[in-house]
Amino acid sequence: MNWLVAALAVCVLVPSANSWCYHKPSCNDTTWPTIAAKYCSGTRQSPINIVSASAELNANLTEFTFQNYGDTSILKKILNTGKTVKVSLGSGVSISGGDLSEAYDSLQFHLHWGNGSSIPGSEHTVDGKRYPMELHIVNSKSTFNGNTTLAVKDSTGLAALGFFIEEMSGNETQQPASWNTLTSYLANIRNRGDSVSIAPGISLDDLLVGVDRSQYYRYLGSLTTPNCNEAVVWTVFKDSIKVSKDLVRPGHPERHPAWVLGLINARIPGGQRSLACISSRIATVIQVTLERSKEP
Ligand SMILES: [Zn+2]
Repeated sequence: MNWLVAALAVCVLVPSANSWCYHKPSCNDTTWPTIAAKYCSGTRQSPINIVSASAELNANLTEFTFQNYGDTSILKKILNTGKTVKVSLGSGVSISGGDLSEAYDSLQFHLHWGNGSSIPGSEHTVDGKRYPMELHIVNSKSTFNGNTTLAVKDSTGLAALGFFIEEMSGNETQQPASWNTLTSYLANIRNRGDSVSIAPGISLDDLLVGVDRSQYYRYLGSLTTPNCNEAVVWTVFKDSIKVSKDLVRPGHPERHPAWVLGLINARIPGGQRSLACISSRIATVIQVTLERSKEP
């Protein structure tokens, strides 16, 4: 009877969260509610389309304090995860303020992108506008000491900072220098699991150049990949990071992460998921999207 027991066991096996993907019909985001049923079909899912006219000024959304964002040796390693390129950060980097309940440790950042030409790849959109790329800095409540397993069980356990990336106007090349350096590592991590150390020289401040970090949107959302845990305080900055065309277009493909991973890795707001899910999300967005007021 062993074969029968084995067959029954297979039937009740739930696909693991590792089996999700972006584009294959068998595992794209239409299937995520099945793969990670607890959250991916929830009502607090990210990303969202931010409706700027519905954003409300909120005086509690003060400026952030960015601890060690100027440290030029804090970017440690860049890794091809198979789904994104992820840069791990050294200890001692954190954010506070911004109406967060406590300090949050900055653990890593990663990118979302399109194909570098016709298909933009930001996850969040503003008034329907999708940007070419989006950078996410993932922060975890300091209380949890970097233990994200605990953080995702807390409805505000993680704080994500979202920055849009788009082309600068003009014909500059290899600008800014920080992005020229960062993207130069992509050619060394062409296979899933590849990672290389990042030499000292660029800081988080260098990568966030040109962004007024006092202007942002705030809402409560989720991880944008399975298990889609609804544990994220989202901050999406209004200003974009401007990068020269050669670093975000396919003219120099080895500088574009789509070349490295051979995929587009953005979840579309509302996604390909059910209409019921989308409509409930729109209602929520209008109520919870807040915009920090400009200082008088
Ligand atoms: Zn992300």
